[in-house]
Amino acid sequence: PAARVAGRRQDVWSIVNEAAAASPKQPIVNMGQGFFGYNPPEFIINAAKAALDQVDCNQYSPTRGRPRLKKAIADSYSPLWGRKLDPETEVTITTGANEGMLSAFMGFIEEGDEVIIFEPFFDQYISNIEMPGGKIVYVPLHPPPNGDKQGTSAADWTIDFAELEAAITSKTKMIVINTPHNPIGKVFSKDELLKIGELCVKNSIIILSDEVYDRLYYVPFTRMATLSPEIERLTLTVGSAGKNFYATGWRVGWLIGPPHLIQYVAAAHTRICYSSVSPLQEAAAIGFEQADQENFWEGAKKEMKGKMDQFNTIWKELDLPFSDPDGGYFVLVNMAKVKVPADYPFPNQVKDRPRDFKLCWFLIQEVGVAAIPPTEFYTDQNAHIGEDWLRFAVCKEDEVLDRAKERLRDLK
Ligand code: GLN
Repeated sequence: PAARVAGRRQDVWSIVNEAAAASPKQPIVNMGQGFFGYNPPEFIINAAKAALDQVDCNQYSPTRGRPRLKKAIADSYSPLWGRKLDPETEVTITTGANEGMLSAFMGFIEEGDEVIIFEPFFDQYISNIEMPGGKIVYVPLHPPPNGDKQGTSAADWTIDFAELEAAITSKTKMIVINTPHNPIGKVFSKDELLKIGELCVKNSIIILSDEVYDRLYYVPFTRMATLSPEIERLTLTVGSAGKNFYATGWRVGWLIGPPHLIQYVAAAHTRICYSSVSPLQEAAAIGFEQADQENFWEGAKKEMKGKMDQFNTIWKELDLPFSDPDGGYFVLVNMAKVKVPADYPFPNQVKDRPRDFKLCWFLIQEVGVAAIPPTEFYTDQNAHIGEDWLRFAVCKEDEVLDRAKERLRDLK
């Protein structure tokens, strides 16, 4: 096998899902991987079913995506961009946001080019950047100094702009921004984005802005591409129907950006998978058309914020500090106080990993709740920063969140 796959450890998602399925505590409450515990709204399910009856929806779509979906996305995002987006040249559809990002890296990275990412990072960026030969340069998001106390929020994770500036070299080709951020739930402030954007303009760096949680923000949200025409010229924005419509298995994503960037993302996508799943593109198009009409987004945001607040009351009860998220559906909880027996029988896939993997394993076996160990989102060198935390996904039914809280009370 090639080193790019053989050299890698088992991914955290399968470790946690497999452990959850095999846990003695069934039914387990799986708050690990960020999948929804409930179905997309009925109008979207119906659209998907109807699409299968349409002859052309069972055949290849154009490589850049179905015209109806590109138009629906351009129509939905034009008001947010403050100008009319051209669906033909400024939008391209991908097989999930993940393949969209891979296509962006494939489209621009040459062997040895550097890509800046903030740490912690969504793990998939790493292999997506390394596959075309990119070199990753990490810049820390500094955790709140009092993160082991109650009362911190995602906004307390900060960028040191001197560190960011120092990370830029003549080889820096791209930077990845993720707002709302996974796993922190940080919504980057307008000021932070402007400073990043201006540095990129000064140094001609392409900005890949992963905004897949863009409809779930609980403080004012700024989109990188909307800051100035100079920044927009360099910005590719990534979106996800899976996140927007509670359908992470659909694998429908997109990029919005200026034609001179989008064309190369589309060129790479064409060679990676030619085109994306047709019937689900059609359903996503109808999803956008109706969601905008019914103001679905406002309801979705309120609902998720309700789940977040309802679930997070447990941490005060247990006296475990959490970092209150400003967006998305993940919450980071500081578990420094939870003791794990040193002689606990850990299997190989967690034995040599940092403490959070052991905590995660212990909770799955003994409490019946699965979460994600966030050191997976750190380099080995900085894993110590994440090892006392666990990430919980709250995109679950209210009864499931209540069951999780009931079980977590065993930690008292
Ligand atoms: N975005 C999802 C999460 O963070 C995971 C997606 C994946 O499994 N690659 O939970």
